[in-house]
Amino acid sequence: MARQARPRIGVASIIQETNTFAARPSTLDDFTAQGLWVGAEAAERSAGTNTEIAGALAEVTAGGAEAVPVVRAWAMSGGVLDAYSFAYLRGLLFDGLVAAGPLDALVLCLHGALVAEGEPAADGALVEAARAVLRPGTPLVATHDLHANVTARIAGGVDALVGFRTYPHVDQGDTGRRGAALALRMLDGLRPGTVVAKRPMLVPAESQAIADPPMAALRRLADGATTGPILDVSLFPVQPWLDVPELGFGVTVTHAGDPDAAKATAEAVAEAAWVRRGEFAVRPVPVAGAVAAVRARTGRGPVLLVQSADSPTAGASADSATVVAALLERPGRIRSYATVVDAPAVAACHLAGTGGAVDTPVGATLDPRWSTPVRLTGTVARLGADPVTLTGAAMTGQSVGMGRWATVDTGTGLTVLLTERPAPTFDPAGYRHAGLEPAEADAVLVRSATLYRAGYGGGYAEAILLDLPGASTPRLDYLDFRHAPRPLYPIDGGAW
Ligand SMILES: [Zn+2]
Repeated sequence: MARQARPRIGVASIIQETNTFAARPSTLDDFTAQGLWVGAEAAERSAGTNTEIAGALAEVTAGGAEAVPVVRAWAMSGGVLDAYSFAYLRGLLFDGLVAAGPLDALVLCLHGALVAEGEPAADGALVEAARAVLRPGTPLVATHDLHANVTARIAGGVDALVGFRTYPHVDQGDTGRRGAALALRMLDGLRPGTVVAKRPMLVPAESQAIADPPMAALRRLADGATTGPILDVSLFPVQPWLDVPELGFGVTVTHAGDPDAAKATAEAVAEAAWVRRGEFAVRPVPVAGAVAAVRARTGRGPVLLVQSADSPTAGASADSATVVAALLERPGRIRSYATVVDAPAVAACHLAGTGGAVDTPVGATLDPRWSTPVRLTGTVARLGADPVTLTGAAMTGQSVGMGRWATVDTGTGLTVLLTERPAPTFDPAGYRHAGLEPAEADAVLVRSATLYRAGYGGGYAEAILLDLPGASTPRLDYLDFRHAPRPLYPIDGGAW
């Protein structure tokens, strides 16, 4: 088919990962705080960033088509998006597409795990909103995060779907380019389809790293199958704190007009994941045991105490002081750093001033379901309110605000960094900014499932995954799933 002179390809991006176990609902404010850009501004502000929208716009232009930016909305992981905010975002997409005028194709960048009030498959609702504006038969390609829960609504609404290939994620821009490349090929006559295979299993985020087995082996299997009519095989192990219908490990296969071959490939890769499901198990350590292990190895470099159960990048509130309590239990001998989100305690420190004495409860101010407050006494060492500039390989150079903050020297070897908003513990710059050098500590609290590996590089002796409850816990059996199909591996342990 001959391509028309200069086709117009729209690119829109509405992205948030929902944690349905998070305490606080997400709102439009979470998006506006990160920049909510419409039309040309979406392209201008995204240019040069490693994002799906920037990659897609660049690929469209490189392919000789006119790139038409529609909308860019992004928010950090959080709780279920309220109905008004979702309607507003869907309206921005709809109105943006109307304003864009006739398009020859659309690339729609979505997370794939967005849940709104009354819309458990909100990404699918966005695809339908776009379809309502596009002329019938207009090519529509979607991109998803690897943590997406692929739904029938998505698969049925798009011509093709591609997902990230990496975790920790570094290929956001490349994924946008892959989506746009498919849209360009559709203008030249390609008629693709995407099929999905799923298995009723959840994978802890800690064992989803793409460099580790079994994900590395599954990725190789997927790459080996990408040949002939099979254009793309994407793995979607899903972020596990998502209580929705259709929850499960997904594999999508995008094909050039051979749905039977695609279905067979998708089922084969999904089955390979299912067969290896036991290999995804993680073995978290009780906090007391982890602290004892640190004491046993004093002087041999920092041990990271990984409280991924309360990870702000996974939508949790980072307000648990359980590790602080454990580190205070037997004072002395080790130097340790911990951090807790606690606005009232920060206020108490600022009132006391540098060098002042504080005696305040800390913890459980935002999400009291998983932990209890701890009494913190000590001396205010430092106060601040300025944002941190990250230095590690994850998100290098980005500025992260943690609100007002204070460090409290407890006189026991433990110094606590109290913040109004979550400190970026996946990067040593978070503590360093507050005058606490992780390299000089025996133990450092980290609230992150895998991002710290990139942020810290090799800068730690050992990382111990903590066995704790929380909105982003690795112990999926601690969570109360009510909407997900059952039985579900591994939480229904006896069912397999
Ligand atoms: Zn992700």
